[in-house]
Amino acid sequence: MKQGRKSPFLVPLFSEEGFAPGSEPTLFHAETHPCRENAWEGLDDLEVLREKVTLCRDCRLREGARGVVFGEGNPQAHVMLVGEGPGATEDEMGRPFVGKAGRFLDAMLRSAGFQRDSVFIANIVKCRPPENRLPLPDEVVACFPHLKAQIRIINPRVVVCLGALSAQTLVDPSIRVTRDRGRWWTKDSRKYLVTYHPAAVLRDENKKKPMLEDFQALRKVYIEMLSDEKEGRIPLLRET
Ligand code: SF4
Repeated sequence: MKQGRKSPFLVPLFSEEGFAPGSEPTLFHAETHPCRENAWEGLDDLEVLREKVTLCRDCRLREGARGVVFGEGNPQAHVMLVGEGPGATEDEMGRPFVGKAGRFLDAMLRSAGFQRDSVFIANIVKCRPPENRLPLPDEVVACFPHLKAQIRIINPRVVVCLGALSAQTLVDPSIRVTRDRGRWWTKDSRKYLVTYHPAAVLRDENKKKPMLEDFQALRKVYIEMLSDEKEGRIPLLRET
């Protein structure tokens, strides 16, 4: 692969708020793993993908996890939310965002008029990293084909990136959430919204209001999309 070639999916060498000081951003282009990158090409059934991914043992994370947390929600959702990786409760229950951070995310969704089961929720990596550490770059690369296939099959209009790892992996490795939250990107006819990870907001109350604003912006964009296209494919909005 040529250096600097543009790809909509880049897997960065990640640290909490960006690249480690003084280090060059080392991009693990998914394209350097062409076979794995397109591992699920041609597979268009989300349930079949779920069955296959559940059997995955492609990285070390599976050894320390109870199982693969594939993700859940509406398979035709217009809105998809992508976090970092499962935590202890998620690992135990086999579902994404069901612990404290998950309940907070549910509240954020409700504040914007979305029912949890009307969107699709997934993570960058599908198995719990030990002691809730951030996924390592090779783990992100290993797991990336699963997320890429999920996005392709669900084909959401909007992807909400919850936290730096998600934003840097899916949108742009140079993103800093503290600087760029609330911003929108468009790639491949899909909108990406960058916001905080719910767990970060639980650790810092000051992030709550900005995250609420981001979800209000999500609601506004979503309503505009529906009104523009008059699709009504999914009744995502509750009465308010
Ligand atoms: S984290 Fe992803 S790549 Fe690693 S074993 Fe789990 S499903 Fe497979």
